[in-house]
Order: sequence, then C-alpha cells, then structure tokens
Amino acid sequence: MISGISAHYHQESFLKFLSLLYLSTPVKQMERFDVAVIGLGALGSAAAYQAAAKGAKTLGLEQFELGHVRGASSDTSRIIRTSYGSPQYVALAQAAYKDWDELQKNAGVQLVQITGGVVLLPRGGQASSASEFTASLDACGVKYELLSSKEVNERWPGFKIADDIDTVYTADTGIVHASKAVTAMQYQARANGAILKENHRVDKITPEGNGNGVVIETSKGRFWAKKVILSADAWVNKLLRPLGAEIQGLTVMQEQVTYFKPLDPERYDPKNFPVWIWGDDPVYYGFPAYGEPSIKAGQDRQRNVMHPDHRTFAPSPELLNKLTKFMDTIIPEHGPELRTVTCQYAVTPDRQFMIGPLKNHPDIILAQGNGHAFKFSPAIGRVAAELAIDGETKEDISLFPVPDPSNGPRRAMSSHL
Ligand SMILES: Cc1cc2nc3c(=O)[nH]c(=O)nc-3n(C[C@H](O)[C@H](O)[C@H](O)COP(=O)(O)OP(=O)(O)OC[C@H]3O[C@@H](n4cnc5c(N)ncnc54)[C@H](O)[C@@H]3O)c2cc1C
Repeated sequence: MISGISAHYHQESFLKFLSLLYLSTPVKQMERFDVAVIGLGALGSAAAYQAAAKGAKTLGLEQFELGHVRGASSDTSRIIRTSYGSPQYVALAQAAYKDWDELQKNAGVQLVQITGGVVLLPRGGQASSASEFTASLDACGVKYELLSSKEVNERWPGFKIADDIDTVYTADTGIVHASKAVTAMQYQARANGAILKENHRVDKITPEGNGNGVVIETSKGRFWAKKVILSADAWVNKLLRPLGAEIQGLTVMQEQVTYFKPLDPERYDPKNFPVWIWGDDPVYYGFPAYGEPSIKAGQDRQRNVMHPDHRTFAPSPELLNKLTKFMDTIIPEHGPELRTVTCQYAVTPDRQFMIGPLKNHPDIILAQGNGHAFKFSPAIGRVAAELAIDGETKEDISLFPVPDPSNGPRRAMSSHL
C-alpha cells in the first residue's frame, strides 16, 4: 500500500515529468493555431470571437477561470459612448456600436441599453473644454445638445449641479453589461470554433522570427501560433519584459465603485436619469439604476497602486468618503452606500490605447486598453484580429501606436474623456 507521503511524492514527480514532457515538445509536434489570444478579459474574449468569426483557427488562453473577477472586466455596468474629446476615439466608438449590434444579434442577448448621457464640464476645470468636445463630435457627425445647469437640473431632477458648468448631452450614450458581454463574446468565440482554455497561465512567448510564428509556453503545455494577440492588461509586462518590449510607466491600481441606495429610486430610473461623467481632475462618473434600485458611481484613477498578484479586494474607506462627499455636491439624494466593489486599472500617464504589432516582434499584436476600453472591446478585438489575419485594418488606429521609446513619448490625451 502507498503511504500518504509516498502518494504525494509520486504525484509531484508525475507532475514534474508531465511539465518536462510539455516543455520538451518539439515545435513541429505542438498543436498549431492561426491565432492565439493571451488573456480572456473583455479585449481578449473579443479578439478570440472576432478572429474565430473570420475563420481563423483560434486558441484563447486564460490564467484563471473564465469569468473571474481578478481583472478589469467584471461586475455589472460600463459606460458606452461616442462622446470623446478626440475624433479618433469618436470614430472607433462609432465602429464599436456596430460591432456591439452584431454581437447582440449573433448571441441573441441584449448587452447594451441606451440611456443618454451627460458630460459635466466645470468651467476653468482641468479636463477637456466643452468646445474641444463639441469639435470632435462635430467632426464625426455625432448629435449633441449643449445644456445650461438650469436645464440639466430641470430635465433630470436627480441632479443639483452648480451654475458654472457646461454640459454636453449625447443621446447615444448608454450602458453595456460587463460580465454578460464577456461571456457572450466567449460563447461566440466557441460557437465559431475557437478553443478557449482556462487555468492556462502563459509563462513565456518566444517569436521564432522571420514570420515563423510564436511558441507559447503555458502552465499546462506548449502551443504554436502564427500570430499572438496579447491582451493581458495588468500582467502584460511580465510577458513583454523578456522581449525587451516592456511598456514604460504602466501602473496598476485597485479601483473601487460604490452602489448607493437612492431615497427615491424612480428618480434614477434610466428613463429619468442619464449616465454622467464629471470632467475635471479627478474625473468622476456614474450610472442610473441598472437592474436594481441602486446608483453606481466611482472616481477614475484612484491611484491605489498595487501589484495585480497581490490585490486585496478590500475597498478603501477614505476613497468611499471622498466619493460620498463629491456625490453630495451633484446628487445630494444619492442615499446610503449599499456596497463597494473593487476593480483594476493598468494605465500609462497618456491614457492612450496601444493597438498593433510589436516593433521588433511583428508576430505579436498588442491590445491594451489603458483603463477605458470596455465600450470599444468588440472593435478593438476586431482590429486586433484583422491585423493578425489580414495584416491591416480599415479603422484609424494612428493615435494608438505601441509605445516605442526610440520615437519619444506618445501624444497624451487631454483627458481620457
Ligand atoms: C472600476 C472600473 C470602471 C470602468 N469603467 C469603464 C467604463 O465605464 N467604460 C469603459 O469603456 N471602460 C471602463 N473601464 C475599463 C475597462 O473595463 C477595461 O479597459 C477593460 O475591461 C480591460 O479589459 P482587458 O481584457 O484588457 O483586461 P482584463 O479584463 O484585466 O483581462 C486581462 C486578462 O488577461 C489574463 N492574463 C494576464 N496575464 C496572463 C497570462 N500570462 N496568461 C494567461 N492569461 C493572462 C488575466 O487573467 C485577465 O483575465 C473601467 C474599469 C474599471 C476597473
């Protein structure tokens, strides 16, 4: 009979043997794919879906279980909008609305709810001015209304905003359900033939050079793909560093959002209340009631810096206090806190997307969202899939180059609004 200790020893040796076997698999015997996507949050799930829908033999690799909450793509709501202060973002958002429509049609589920939205811009504030906003909306033919504070407070009595605020209203703003959308994209990836492997941590990617593809070493075996789409967000530098392609200045933060229980829930129903963004430094944002009689709000970039492998998931009482004080100034009837949940940002100071092949390793395509990419996810996934499969995309991604220190700093967004 094998004793407990001896059984443990045998099991460990067997696992070691298996991993050695995996690592010694010759390239020719590895399972081969047209496209491998590393990281299955919103961007990677979108890329796997879009690549598979284009007919590519697609592999998706996720270090945790599918649908986990340790990344940036969990929880209920994300703002979807075209209202950005830069035409390239507006144009990509317009394309993303079409991709969301197609995904909803293919998946047979509603993921997007249009509510209308306001960007509240305090005069003399740190973020974009109303004219910067409207210029970029004009350039892309997006309809908007410019409202006075009196008009805002009358139209949506849930607000009590001060006089010195310019407000841009866009009717096409809304909410996308985050966790449902990620699941829908994963289902659609599989429905189109992609193989998605959860609990497969990628430890190393080695480009073979000269367009000969990439060897991918995971915790459970080796694979080969002609092209890799890297959508690992907060963990991305772990894989980029050994390739000499580390993203400089990428900081990972634990963010948090709070659900408040308003005194009069009807006032905050989506038919009576819009999505809102406070465009100053700091930026705040919030939602009407969405699937429950609560209103969610948060501060953008709370600077709660941490390592993604050591996230506490414990909300900060100080940040909650700061948010509550801010809410008192524009939505005084927000009511008490119901719950506060954490999320994760991986951001560089310029806040620009990074989409495209690595300069020295063009078989690896980076898709990095810089803390505001959910609304764009099916479009970014499509662009990454087009770059991987066709070598080009019709979308204008000139503003989102992969950082190359030899080109100097990238142009920063005036704000990510
Ligand atoms: C509080 C909060 C509010 C937000 N609000 C909005 C909003 O209103 N609108 C909006 O558009 N955006 C918003 N965002 C931003 C948006 O949610 C993110 O930009 C987006 O979800 C990022 O998706 P991702 O797939 O790049 O990252 P993630 O979801 O973090 O996915 C990366 C995945 O890669 C996996 N991975 C990493 N390394 C490896 C490896 N070595 N091997 C295998 N797998 C690996 C991870 O486990 C993870 O699953 C918000 C974000 C937060 C945190």
